[in-house]
Amino acid sequence: MLAPILDKEMKNYSSMKTGGMAKCAYFPENETELCEIIKSLKSENKKYIVLGNMSNVLLPDEKIEVPIVVTTEMKSVKVSDETAVYAEAGVSFTKLALDMCKRGLSGLEFAYGIPGTVGGAVYMNAGAYGGEAKDVIKNVRVLKKDGSVVTLSSEECEFSYRKSIFHNDEYVILGAEFELVKKDADECVNAARELMQKRVDKQPLEYPSCGSTFKRPEGYFAGALIVEAGLKGYSVGGAQVSQKHAGFVINRENATTADVLSLMRHIRKTIFEKNNVTLEAEIKLLGTDGEFFLL
Ligand SMILES: Cc1cc2nc3c(=O)[nH]c(=O)nc-3n(C[C@H](O)[C@H](O)[C@H](O)COP(=O)(O)OP(=O)(O)OC[C@H]3O[C@@H](n4cnc5c(N)ncnc54)[C@H](O)[C@@H]3O)c2cc1C
Repeated sequence: MLAPILDKEMKNYSSMKTGGMAKCAYFPENETELCEIIKSLKSENKKYIVLGNMSNVLLPDEKIEVPIVVTTEMKSVKVSDETAVYAEAGVSFTKLALDMCKRGLSGLEFAYGIPGTVGGAVYMNAGAYGGEAKDVIKNVRVLKKDGSVVTLSSEECEFSYRKSIFHNDEYVILGAEFELVKKDADECVNAARELMQKRVDKQPLEYPSCGSTFKRPEGYFAGALIVEAGLKGYSVGGAQVSQKHAGFVINRENATTADVLSLMRHIRKTIFEKNNVTLEAEIKLLGTDGEFFLL
């Protein structure tokens, strides 16, 4: 079985570029390795956490005590018939989107610019510009708690806004099959590039971040509330509310996770006091025990 790396510095793997060490980290390169690792950890009754590109996860500054399994080396893609493509969990969602556009397969244009893996996109039902992962997912291959590998239909995945059945942690996502439609390749590529340009124009992509910090509260936009509260550019340590897009907290200069969390808590408190609206973190906050916690 693939050996873990002990005391692995994780900061550079995380999209926010914050966080400390993992006591034990695995980087499987294919489905077989991933399944072996999970089964072995389970047989020892060990807790673990499976992560993709960490573009929606904030790592703790302190050492993570549970094994981390990172899927980003699982990069196999197979166009299974004319319009269906199967991608392993670690495949870059944005790269998959552009590659499919270049082949003249349409449906993933919205995903060009979402900086996570296929596994993370399935888990989060990632979406943008009117498209969502669920619109194009045909089925998802998973490892169940009992060690069996099964395929779930899109309906069985219970997708909703940034949510799926996978939030109950019953499954490890091994890969997903997407159903696309044939279209002119240039048209697909141009549409994807237009959406990417919108991101470049609006989002602070020049700084590390985890994307939108807070979920959209009903009836409001988190970014607009933050601007109205005068918090654009507000900093705690090296973390800052982006000047370019107030919906993003960025790592402006050597921020720690503690800086990011303090800033998020300050924003939430301010907006609650001013607007009586409770902002909920969209970024998932990982504890040293491998559990996600609330802000
Ligand atoms: C600049 C920027 C822009 C962004 N724009 C968007 C956007 O437009 N739309 C959008 O929806 N999101 C956006 N995001 C957020 C993020 O990219 C998505 O949520 C993405 O889908 C997360 O994928 P990931 O591989 O990074 O997952 P991670 O952040 O590593 O993990 C997210 C969750 O998925 C779980 N997970 C990951 N892989 C697996 C697996 N194989 N099996 C089981 N569980 C797994 C993790 O445990 C965790 O709970 C943006 C982020 C950034 C930094």
